[in-house]
Amino acid sequence: MNAPVRPESCGIDFARERGQRAVFCGLTGIVWLHRKIQDAFFLVVGSRTCAHLIQSAAGVMIFAEPRFATAILDERDLAGLADAEDELDRVVERLIARRPDIRLLFLVGSCPSEVIKLDLSRAALRLSRRLAPVRVLSYSGSGIETTFTEGEDACLAALVPELAEAAPGEAGLLVAGALGDVVEDQFGRLFADLGIPVRFLPGRSAGAMPALAPGQPFLLAQPFLAGTARALEARGLRHLPAPFPLGEAGTTGWLRAAADAFGVSSEHFEAVTAPGRRRAATALAPHRARLAGRRVFFFPDSQLEVPLARFLSGELGAAIVEVGTPYLHRGHLAHEIAALPAGTRVVEGQSLDDQMDRARVARPDLTVCGLGLANPLEAEGLATKWSIELLFTPVQGYEQAGDLAELFARPLRRRERLEV
Ligand code: SF4
Repeated sequence: MNAPVRPESCGIDFARERGQRAVFCGLTGIVWLHRKIQDAFFLVVGSRTCAHLIQSAAGVMIFAEPRFATAILDERDLAGLADAEDELDRVVERLIARRPDIRLLFLVGSCPSEVIKLDLSRAALRLSRRLAPVRVLSYSGSGIETTFTEGEDACLAALVPELAEAAPGEAGLLVAGALGDVVEDQFGRLFADLGIPVRFLPGRSAGAMPALAPGQPFLLAQPFLAGTARALEARGLRHLPAPFPLGEAGTTGWLRAAADAFGVSSEHFEAVTAPGRRRAATALAPHRARLAGRRVFFFPDSQLEVPLARFLSGELGAAIVEVGTPYLHRGHLAHEIAALPAGTRVVEGQSLDDQMDRARVARPDLTVCGLGLANPLEAEGLATKWSIELLFTPVQGYEQAGDLAELFARPLRRRERLEV
């Protein structure tokens, strides 16, 4: 069984801040989602700013056949809403005619006021009817409504009502949250060894999406999927409370939640997980020497901050100065919060200037933050880690525990070299 949850009043210093934020918008999720769902296309309905963000965030994909684009609504389209809707329909129809490989199209909303006025969910319904069998869905990646990992949440939440119904008892376990294919394959093998049938959301193609059944248990693979979890619960699925599969302890706790739900004996669980746990412990050992006692400060960005702080303190002996997070889902993070060291300061939301002041006073050894803050902080002599890398790199599971630790050890090594 996973450890009981510590009452939240016990030992954690919670605070909430409101003020200026420095976080990417939800459009960023397209960069990893378009790689995951291999016949999906993401059409951002937005401005030139949105197009630039997507191009630069996904710049590494420049030589690949792009499966994302921006339909730019400029002033010409603003003459009337009907014009903008017609223009959008024409863009989508041209796209589908040119790219018959697309089976699933997401219209992704953004912030400009002319986009907000468009009803993208209605446009998706209209286009789905016209372009069947291509499915057209919509969600918002707007910076007004979403921080960057919430784009994935909005995308998956839009998918859930579309998923087929499975016969009760045939659905097995559902794992929700985009994982690197290599990680998904590893977990698939572990669940198979445990005797647990499993499906992953999102599937790797429109035709490989999981079917759902009322009463089916689901695990979250990512901590930023509050909307997706609500949509799954609305379909009658049952969330399994668990830590997140980061590091050896997180992965074991996550797998154990599924094993308990499916009645796997503790002996069998030990036998299946022991080799992975051993490999993870061996991979972590050299990093512990570098990270133990190092003071780490998290700016709010990816919503991975609380599980990462638990991993860094619990498995690598780091000292956590502050854990900033855009949102704190106390239910989904209950196991993670319970495993933080007593006295850890957890701040939900952001007041950028106040947080910068606290980081400057604390002078942490490592600051985990968004791209926009890294350069100014480096210029002030602080070692930084871009939190966005934690989304682009496979970090979950036993086999990746060492790589995850390495992501935090590397900036410290680089700074030591610079200082030498
Ligand atoms: Fe900027 Fe909004 Fe477009 Fe994001 S959605 S790039 S915040 S304009």
